Amino acid sequence: MSDLENLRSEFHSKFPYLPSGKYVHFLMVRHSQSFPVFQTDGVLNTTRTEAGLEESHRHKISRLVMFKRKQVTPERLSGRELLRSISLTSSEESSDNYCQYNGEKSCKKCPDCVIYGFAIGDKGSERSKVYSDSSFSLSPYENSHRSFTFNAPAEAGSMSEKGEMRNALGELDHVLPEVTFPSVETLRDPTYEGFIYVLGNLIRTKRYGAQESRTGTMDNRIVGIVFCDGEIFSNLHFTQALYDKLEGKIDIGIDKICQQAKEVAESLLNNEPVRKSSMIFDEELKGLMTEVLSIYQDETKLQANMQELYIQTDTYAKTYGAFAGKKDSKDGKSKSKNK
Ligand SMILES: [Zn+2]
Repeated sequence: MSDLENLRSEFHSKFPYLPSGKYVHFLMVRHSQSFPVFQTDGVLNTTRTEAGLEESHRHKISRLVMFKRKQVTPERLSGRELLRSISLTSSEESSDNYCQYNGEKSCKKCPDCVIYGFAIGDKGSERSKVYSDSSFSLSPYENSHRSFTFNAPAEAGSMSEKGEMRNALGELDHVLPEVTFPSVETLRDPTYEGFIYVLGNLIRTKRYGAQESRTGTMDNRIVGIVFCDGEIFSNLHFTQALYDKLEGKIDIGIDKICQQAKEVAESLLNNEPVRKSSMIFDEELKGLMTEVLSIYQDETKLQANMQELYIQTDTYAKTYGAFAGKKDSKDGKSKSKNK
């Protein structure tokens, strides 16, 4: 059996109404490939935390922060683009499958709406089944950023986007290449197809950070995938434990960091109060990722996966979600059981 086939028992055949104690955690190291900008009001997001967990690493350092939204939004947009590219959803307002991102006209039934959730004022909401949290740079802020002025030729074009010059004379603080953000992203109550979708969004999303910079390439290195019955350690804890393991020597290259991150994750998992049903690391992970890649490279396999996923999320919407209690998803007002 293939690595993916081996996992079949980990998945629901349909999305359940209530949380049912199945969690898949994607353990990864997000790795900047150029100069992303994670900022609010022109300043990079930073915070002070203890460097590590051990007594000798309890001193405070400044760390870059990648807020939750800055992680999940680009991933959602990648997924939505994929759904449109295979015509499961549409960008035409007149279409039955039109779905507006996070707005009044969200379709409330596509994989993006049902898996990542939505909240449309009093018109209904769906809690996200994808859990994430702020990520923190392994290295201190001081070693992880640099300011650039805007008049650099490569930036000039994008800075006048939509006819508007943005802070044309200012400086913009950028994250440096090869800064790492250890992260856990979690999918609750996955179906097999939903698992492929969310994992695909992680490995296919390459651009994070401020839209106007268009330089924020990042690579998500998956170091492990864990199935268990509850939530596990936080991103900060993961980062600090990795800092301890490396004794603060973080300039060892991404491959070694990933290897150490995997070992740290394994040992942290031993201290979590959860039942672990599958833990995928090393060779098994490699095999699984190759299989996932082959789905994304094959039109037929991809279509089949996403079509099945669409049926699952549409069924969920009609059974428990925005269209529950209605004969047809287009008529009348919604009577959601989900309140
Ligand atoms: Zn939708």
